[in-house]
Amino acid sequence: MHFETRAIRVGQEPDEATGATIVPIYQTSTFTQEEIGRNKGFEYTRSGNPTRAALEACLASLEEGKYGLSFASGLAAEHAVLSMLRPGDHVIAPFDLYGGTYRLFTQVLEPMNIRFTFLDFTDPVKLASAFLPETRMAWIETPTNPTLKIFDIAAIVNECHRHNVLSVVDNTFATPYFQKPLSLEADIVVHSTTKYINGHSDVVGGAVVVNDKVIWNKVRFYQNSIGGVSSPFDAWLTLRGLKTLAVRMQQHERNAFAVARFLQKHPKIEGVLYPGLEGHPGYNTAKKQMTGFGGLVSVYLKGGFSEVNLFLKNLKVFSLAESLGGVESLANYSTRMTHASYPEKLKNQIGITDNLVRLSVGLEHADDLTDDLKQALAKF
Ligand SMILES: *Cc1c(COP(=O)(O)O)cnc(C)c1O
Repeated sequence: MHFETRAIRVGQEPDEATGATIVPIYQTSTFTQEEIGRNKGFEYTRSGNPTRAALEACLASLEEGKYGLSFASGLAAEHAVLSMLRPGDHVIAPFDLYGGTYRLFTQVLEPMNIRFTFLDFTDPVKLASAFLPETRMAWIETPTNPTLKIFDIAAIVNECHRHNVLSVVDNTFATPYFQKPLSLEADIVVHSTTKYINGHSDVVGGAVVVNDKVIWNKVRFYQNSIGGVSSPFDAWLTLRGLKTLAVRMQQHERNAFAVARFLQKHPKIEGVLYPGLEGHPGYNTAKKQMTGFGGLVSVYLKGGFSEVNLFLKNLKVFSLAESLGGVESLANYSTRMTHASYPEKLKNQIGITDNLVRLSVGLEHADDLTDDLKQALAKF
């Protein structure tokens, strides 16, 4: 079946007990057992819940993977995956990461003696020489947050295979609608479902999808043992949002193109980062591995903090807020918001400067979005 159909149908058969067309919210912590050791497949909601199971099945199907796991947040999903590492193990990762991922790596895992090497993943020579005998995992995030760099998943995964290293792809920005890392032979996909997958800015959640049963069992063990599971209600809301992922992503992309093209021509804009623009350094790789370019546009304003502040204060349709991927357009000042936990030096190196604004282009009418940007740019 096609993506659109699977989003609406997989894991979502009518309820066996009542015929309810929509998967019910099984808001229960526990399940009554018929006799010792006999139950209907569920015992305790941390270990498994039917609403969560429906979401997990659907997520797996959309990523074209075999097994899905749903978590209380993207970072909880990442932590469950990283729990496979042991002291002394080494991980390679790009300089460009979601700020919270970088904080998890450097402030939670490094003190536990897991070592990280950060490097430029667009440089194949540097990448090839970053693998050590202790390297167990490569962490790939593409497109990156917030500078929208594109890394060649197949090339990096190929290098990982040569070194017998697990590859993890954070697919939050592209979503499975535009990019399927497991089909490019990555081992593990992680998501912040908070973003496009739920899509309505009303749930914090995360997911892991894999093809390998051994990896699935390991991550599932950590999901249950650490306990960062999604609640039945959050799983239900996410499943509700997920049904429309395909149409939302198409419109996010159309609106993002409209915003990117408008900003490209504006005299108060120094530069526009959108992987769908031919001048973008990752354009060819994006075309190769993605079926669309997504809904995020980052922009360098002419000016510094005070100009950006005036611009952001005067936006009326775009909201100044953390997060992305919802139906409403958001503007984020990465250096002080999502990437506040990044060291200054690293921020400058990867292009998170004080005139950079990340726009999560929502589903309002494109003309209202460009009009809003136009009036706010006129304020400085
Ligand atoms: C938001 C985000 C995360 C973290 O997810 P939470 O749901 O906020 O815990 C991880 N990776 C990327 C790319 C993100 O945008």
